[in-house]
Amino acid sequence: MKAFVFDAAHCNGCHNCQFACKDETVGNEWLPYSLPQPDTGCFWCKLDEIEHGQLPKVKVEYRINVCHHCDNAPCIAAAPDAFYKREDGLVILDPEAARGRKELLDVCPYGAIWWNDELEVAQKCTGCAHLVDEGKLPHCVDHCPTGGWRFGEEEEFAEELKDAERLSAPEHGGRVFYINLPKLFIGGQVWDPIPNEVIEEATVTLYGADGAKLAETTSDWNGDYYFRKLDAGTYKVVMEAAGYKTIEQVVELEKSLNIGDFAMERL
Ligand code: SF4
Repeated sequence: MKAFVFDAAHCNGCHNCQFACKDETVGNEWLPYSLPQPDTGCFWCKLDEIEHGQLPKVKVEYRINVCHHCDNAPCIAAAPDAFYKREDGLVILDPEAARGRKELLDVCPYGAIWWNDELEVAQKCTGCAHLVDEGKLPHCVDHCPTGGWRFGEEEEFAEELKDAERLSAPEHGGRVFYINLPKLFIGGQVWDPIPNEVIEEATVTLYGADGAKLAETTSDWNGDYYFRKLDAGTYKVVMEAAGYKTIEQVVELEKSLNIGDFAMERL
């Protein structure tokens, strides 16, 4: 069975995958799998930008958004006359059966089905089945310059799939696997109000709700520090620097947080 793997650590946000999807499908009919995709309004392959944090500590990370090619696909269960699964795992929406059926947009819980206004047909990612039939890669994968978006036999990816997540529900069993997805961060800054300068190399320690030490870092040339790849929860951040009173800050982390600029008081 085929699988897609998205490695967020390698995605630089170039959007080549999204452009490649349009390049392959706008103005091109790939029957029996697809009629042309419109140049605007539909995104069979879309790169989502995930912005988190608060100014000036904001990070933008990326996540690809395509049909999950579910093994137990709700779309097939709801409309078996229109959707089918190939032996290689790709789920196809039959373009002839999808004509005039806008209601098919509602059968996917992941918003992977689009309405082509011009041709009046429901459409979605085919995994470039027409290329896969020729032993080629889906166009979006072929045009990813970083190798962050991959496609192949699931066994080829066995090692990396051990740490993979799926954004589809476990009962649907999507064939799109994600690794290194962005998690939450805590960022802050320390400074000395007397000379009005940042403090470099302050020791900043992160503790969990149970008091266990989780990580330690130092503030950089700008007095900034970060703790990344955190789950939601309660943390304590302790800021220490020689000649200054220690600062402790409890953080309830639900989304990535810039916890602010901390003026450290001299001893
Ligand atoms: Fe069907 Fe949606 Fe799953 Fe794709 S993501 S296989 S359209 S239910």
